[in-house]
Amino acid sequence: MTIPLLDLKAQYATIKDEVNRAIASVVERQEFIMGREIAELEAKVAELSHARHGIGCASGTDAILLPLKTLGLKPGDEVIAPSFTFFATAGTIHNAGGTPVFVDIDPATYCADPAAIEAAITPRTRAIVIVHLFGQMAAMERILAIAAKRGIPVIEDGAQSIGARRQIDGTWRAAGELGWVGTFSFFPSKNLGGYGDGGLIVTQQDALAERLKKLRVHGGAKQYHHEEVGTNSRLDTIQAAILLAKFPHLATWSSARRARAARYTEAFRGHADIRPPVTDAGNEHIFHQYTIRVPRRDELMAHLKAAGIGCAVYYPIGLHLQPCFAELGYRIGSLPKTEEAMRDVLSLPVYPELTDASVDRVIGAVKGFFG
Ligand SMILES: *Cc1c(COP(=O)(O)O)cnc(C)c1O
Repeated sequence: MTIPLLDLKAQYATIKDEVNRAIASVVERQEFIMGREIAELEAKVAELSHARHGIGCASGTDAILLPLKTLGLKPGDEVIAPSFTFFATAGTIHNAGGTPVFVDIDPATYCADPAAIEAAITPRTRAIVIVHLFGQMAAMERILAIAAKRGIPVIEDGAQSIGARRQIDGTWRAAGELGWVGTFSFFPSKNLGGYGDGGLIVTQQDALAERLKKLRVHGGAKQYHHEEVGTNSRLDTIQAAILLAKFPHLATWSSARRARAARYTEAFRGHADIRPPVTDAGNEHIFHQYTIRVPRRDELMAHLKAAGIGCAVYYPIGLHLQPCFAELGYRIGSLPKTEEAMRDVLSLPVYPELTDASVDRVIGAVKGFFG
């Protein structure tokens, strides 16, 4: 029997009736564009993120791009971002007219290192995009202190961390709550995934929320009146309906992921070759990925695949080394901690429907490889 990295069919089997009913309801009403489910989902995700506003949009990529566009970046304007992340984090900076400035990670959490962010700030820094990678929040209190001193807006890319929390000064803060904006993706494999593309922005700022709501419909609050040039980046009503049906399960799914992660970590603890992931003090991790660090990573990956166990490398090439950013002048050696992670990380199955027996089989296969 094979164990996939993620099993969306198993999840669908547990929520089939709710989801099918939600889809049918939109189809019956033929209310495909900006139907009532959009505002309902926006309110739910805003509440989860302790934010005043939620703005649905077409993808997690657009959720980063639209706020960046409001900054009106000029050639040479810099936006700081980690290199160890999904491409959208920096592709959007380029597409908004800015220049990405890549920073290294804290090797324990894989999130951007606050000291590296501070060192990368120049008079041309216009924004900082941080990523709550693999399901845990970056060191927001430190990053915000650095950004606030200079009045630089912080975008929280929360595509992998919807509902993740971090205790700061004794208070639970949610992913997306503290930045200028927080962004989420509903790509099917995310912890709250739709059945197609989708994204959402959260913010505390009233005027910005209004502006983003216009930008996603060609820049006009009123049809055929355009105050500025926007685009078509609506969240699809059918997707919003599916996401609303799935939303009540999110907390249960997140704790199921934590339980599976804990089972792995217990088994790997103290092993000479296997380094389990580290949850930063104060964080409630939602384990979008359970990522270990190992020597001979590619051999282990081949061994697991041969045993029918799904696994993957997130991320094999840092964005600073991507051919499309070659002109920025980064080389091997520019971001050593990112480059080390590129060589030795491996993500294992950690989805909520995974049985204990399957977790144990993965553990056995990983340990068996190292003998
Ligand atoms: C998935 C993801 C995105 C982009 O989301 P899409 O919905 O696929 O456009 C952005 N950032 C990170 C860190 C992601 O994991």
